Amino acid sequence: MKFQENDKINTKVKIIFLFFIGFSILMSSSSIVAQKDYVIVIDAGHGGKDPGNLGSGYKEKNIALKVALAVGKKLAIKKDIKVLYTRKNDVFVNLWKRGDVANQAKADLFISIHCDSHTSNAYGAGTFVLGLRGNKKNLEIAKRENAVIFKEDNYKDKYKGFDTNSAESVIGLSLLQEENLDKSLAIASLIQNNFTFKLKRLNRKVKQDNFQVLRETIMPSVLVELGFLTNKKEGRYLNSKKGQDQMAGAISEAVLKYIHNLKLNVISNTDITIKAVHSVEFKIQIASGKNKIATKSFNFKGLKNVQRVSVGKFYKYYYGNTADYKQVKKSLKTAKSKGYTSAFIVAFKDGEKISVQEAVKIK
Ligand SMILES: [Zn+2]
Repeated sequence: MKFQENDKINTKVKIIFLFFIGFSILMSSSSIVAQKDYVIVIDAGHGGKDPGNLGSGYKEKNIALKVALAVGKKLAIKKDIKVLYTRKNDVFVNLWKRGDVANQAKADLFISIHCDSHTSNAYGAGTFVLGLRGNKKNLEIAKRENAVIFKEDNYKDKYKGFDTNSAESVIGLSLLQEENLDKSLAIASLIQNNFTFKLKRLNRKVKQDNFQVLRETIMPSVLVELGFLTNKKEGRYLNSKKGQDQMAGAISEAVLKYIHNLKLNVISNTDITIKAVHSVEFKIQIASGKNKIATKSFNFKGLKNVQRVSVGKFYKYYYGNTADYKQVKKSLKTAKSKGYTSAFIVAFKDGEKISVQEAVKIK
């Protein structure tokens, strides 16, 4: 009798115990779902022996670091976000190492923060995603940001075959990077929209180019150019606590919206208000033939910046390279007035020749 009762109690204990185990498995698995961390790697450009640009006396490496830390601080307070930095102080970090930090952490997003410079009074904020090649102006920015490679030890081994001066030397995007492109464009446009509409910074748009630091990562990645330190007014703003806080706010709010959209699985770049994703170029073809002619203006009736491209055994001569269709029409008039009466407009998308009609539609 006693035996039996004990058995009954044992069974009850067992049932309660099993129920408890089942319940805790259920709880822990649901909490795993709830606690999924989004790992965001924030990369402050330059650092240490590489000051970045020094436009109007402000150091890019310092501003990039302050904004990067401020972005991280704003994001780290969120329960489901884990923030990592490629540098938290004034140290030199190789470009490949920056990507490596993100890859090792299996990060969900990589944001590299920089400031631009120019010989003119140019200003405004822009956001870049990786692209095979962009236009000449973007290439200049990519070249500046990539130039740090030469300060690294053994750079020739680490960046095999990569010619920082030539967009053409780039073999192509890896499949993975292409898969990331939609997400990269989505976060880039959210950031850029905040810069433009919330902060009223001049919109230099979302653009694609070949930034080495973005090539090193295997997750959605963007590179932000906060503004131009060479522009006194913008440099002063970016160097101020207020400016840094506002720019960091614009970036961190964009990241939160991006993560929100990820959760809802509604990431798309259909709401991108920025058109300049593809680099479209117009040119005037003024001549073609078997003769290789030096592209000096005196050889081309005074036309400057003539470009020669070899096509098989022939050479084509182009003039008036621009992304602006109105501008190329003006250049066509100029070319005709100089005597190139049969000159005509040609168009290229990402370096590939396309019809002018198609190019106008993309613009
Ligand atoms: Zn930079």
